[in-house]
Amino acid sequence: MLLIAKTPGLRMPRQLNDIKELGHRLVAHAYPEFDGRDLKIDTGKLRSYGQVRWSDAGGIQIICHQDVMEWPEPALIGLLAHEISHPAEGSSSEEGTDRDVISRGLGHYLAVERAFVDKYGDHIISKGKDRYLGFQSVRELLNDHEQRIMENLLEDFKILPSKETRKFRLIHDTAIHDEIGHSILLIEGQSIRVEGARPNSDIKLLFRDEILYVYADDDVVAQVPWRER
Ligand SMILES: [Zn+2]
Repeated sequence: MLLIAKTPGLRMPRQLNDIKELGHRLVAHAYPEFDGRDLKIDTGKLRSYGQVRWSDAGGIQIICHQDVMEWPEPALIGLLAHEISHPAEGSSSEEGTDRDVISRGLGHYLAVERAFVDKYGDHIISKGKDRYLGFQSVRELLNDHEQRIMENLLEDFKILPSKETRKFRLIHDTAIHDEIGHSILLIEGQSIRVEGARPNSDIKLLFRDEILYVYADDDVVAQVPWRER
């Protein structure tokens, strides 16, 4: 069991440096294989709460949606842990990524994050091939001690898990793995291969008329049918 959150209260206003510090603390505590790896964290304009991008030899870059700056700290830790678990071995699916977070003793933060973003039940994606674990499933995978910590965090931060389903304004997150000569994007469980994008090219997503356009720098490098949900 890991306790990363320093302050029980909501620290406001939060600075970008606080988020960077949280990310580095997470790696130091729970991701020993990434120790010494360059970890960049920024905020930006996104269609998701978070985006992680990495190459096997290079660093890990995380971009958080601007709104995330105002999230309660445990929910933010849950999101960052999910993003850092993407590059971890064996997590090329959202469910695998969530399970990796839990296996590192960070599941109570993931549960708080899922309660905060109103994912109570599992969020099935990619036509049932993948899923984001909902609050309920994450809670079931916690040990007694982690469950108690989770209950305390929910109480301290006044987060009430609600079974009410809401229409999500944002997709949860995207992951970009830069490999030699191509990149693999993971968006809502759908894997999209992009040829020839340079590792430092600026990848942007544009959703229009039920098509997802992937831009690398200013060129369209992939387009796939996409139904907004
Ligand atoms: Zn993800």
